[in-house]
Amino acid sequence: MTEHSPSLQIDPVTAIRSLAGQNLIGGRRVPSARRLPVLNPATGTQLGDAADAGAVETDAAVAAARGAFDAWARTPARTRGKAVAAAGRALAEQSEAIARILAMETGKALRTECRGEVAVAADLLEFYGGLGSELKGETVPYNPRMLTMTIREPLGVVAAILPWNVPLVLMMLKIGPALVAGNTVVVKASEEAPFATLLCAEILAAHLPEGCVNVVCGTGADCGAVLTAHPDVAKISFTGSEAVGQAVYEAGAKRIVPVSLELGGKSPMIICADADLDRAVEGALSGMRFTRQGQSCTAASRIYVHADLKDAFLAKIGARLDAMVIGDPLDEATEIGTIINARQAATIRRYVAMAEKVEDAEIRRYGRLPKGGAIVPDLFEQPTLILGLPEDHPCVREEIFGPVAVVQVWQDYDDVIARANTSGYGLAATIWTRDLNTALDATARLDAGYVQVNQNLTIQPNVSYGGFGRSGLGKEASLEAMTEHFTRKKTIVMNFDG
Ligand code: NAD
Repeated sequence: MTEHSPSLQIDPVTAIRSLAGQNLIGGRRVPSARRLPVLNPATGTQLGDAADAGAVETDAAVAAARGAFDAWARTPARTRGKAVAAAGRALAEQSEAIARILAMETGKALRTECRGEVAVAADLLEFYGGLGSELKGETVPYNPRMLTMTIREPLGVVAAILPWNVPLVLMMLKIGPALVAGNTVVVKASEEAPFATLLCAEILAAHLPEGCVNVVCGTGADCGAVLTAHPDVAKISFTGSEAVGQAVYEAGAKRIVPVSLELGGKSPMIICADADLDRAVEGALSGMRFTRQGQSCTAASRIYVHADLKDAFLAKIGARLDAMVIGDPLDEATEIGTIINARQAATIRRYVAMAEKVEDAEIRRYGRLPKGGAIVPDLFEQPTLILGLPEDHPCVREEIFGPVAVVQVWQDYDDVIARANTSGYGLAATIWTRDLNTALDATARLDAGYVQVNQNLTIQPNVSYGGFGRSGLGKEASLEAMTEHFTRKKTIVMNFDG
């Protein structure tokens, strides 16, 4: 630990060792006989062993959640909320250890990514913890002699299936509202990044009745698919790839249970000729999530810059990218860490190689790859901008999930709006302009669930977040997300007349 680091209460390495092979079921650690190796992508060495849970552990986790459900559902909503908020505060107290574990398993930089992720995860629990009293129904003016009303009821056991890129924030987006609404949960951790998830769930579970929060670690086929097909799972909330999202949706359809899907994206960022260029450059840097190696579903990976600003934009963003430090995720100086694994790195390189084949394409790589020490350079990628691609090129249309953005030039406003809307995804979009009429027109026409003007913020508690089209179904992060996706509405008509 460097002298700048906040104090550690839990030793991350000891925690990872003790969590080896474990699931969290009914408030206790339950080991799996089979194990999955978890690598530290920055060093290429094995960080630890995760449980490789199968049907037995998954059934046990669902049974524990089912067993806890009735009493938790009957607990007053504010009491549930207070417990969840207290868990959020407890999580914040352990934030440094959790952030370090996250950095080691994901390769994301501790300073620029992991500390912030833990802080947002804790904040989401506090945010949802305060919303217990908002689980309100309505009265309906159906007949003055009858009391007609709706109430919100919890659904039962919620399956929360997580990817590796921002596992803690995505976990809390699901289980925070699920728990406050009176559901119990089984989290399926990502096989790439299970340890921080497990540790957070343990801290949370300590504030809740036994069995309310359970975690299984394992593969998609042996653990995730068992969970989504389980007859006692009443709701599936999934974040991950489009292909797996389709399988999860099918599994839900077979049992007619509600499914929320947060899938991929190819978010456009339109920079108008009148934009504040410095602000747009900062927005492109943060929106493209270069500090997360671009491994973000909302990454602003299609930058449409007006022809008048192209050269100035490239000069400014190039200087900023060149100065970013790529290196050991645990080093305080590092701004950009590693890609999660060799498969993802190969995918990124395959896309760049496709762009290299285009005659007019220009590939600009920035920054310096790290050398030496315990760091293995294989999984580091330089931030990359690609220019001169046709609009139908895979790099322009498909999610790369790496630090690679395409920069497309435009002159005609209607044309750029049409181009922005062609990917089939619809997660996020931004427009950068000083003109209110342009902003209003673009926000109406951009086909995305999260549209921002002159900023490129990530998920914010209280702001509904969720995609259109291939980007998924449902909203997260808001009150609406809790009531619409983690409760059911019951209509009651009372008639004592005669
Ligand atoms: P993935 O789809 O491969 O895996 C996600 C999770 O699903 C993992 O826990 C995996 O084990 C599990 N899984 C796999 N097969 C399953 C099955 N048949 N049934 C049930 N569960 C199964 O995704 P990933 O590689 O972990 O994450 C990257 C993807 O996630 C990217 O495509 C990215 O766009 C997407 N993502 C979306 C958002 C969003 O909010 N829209 C956020 C983060 C990541």
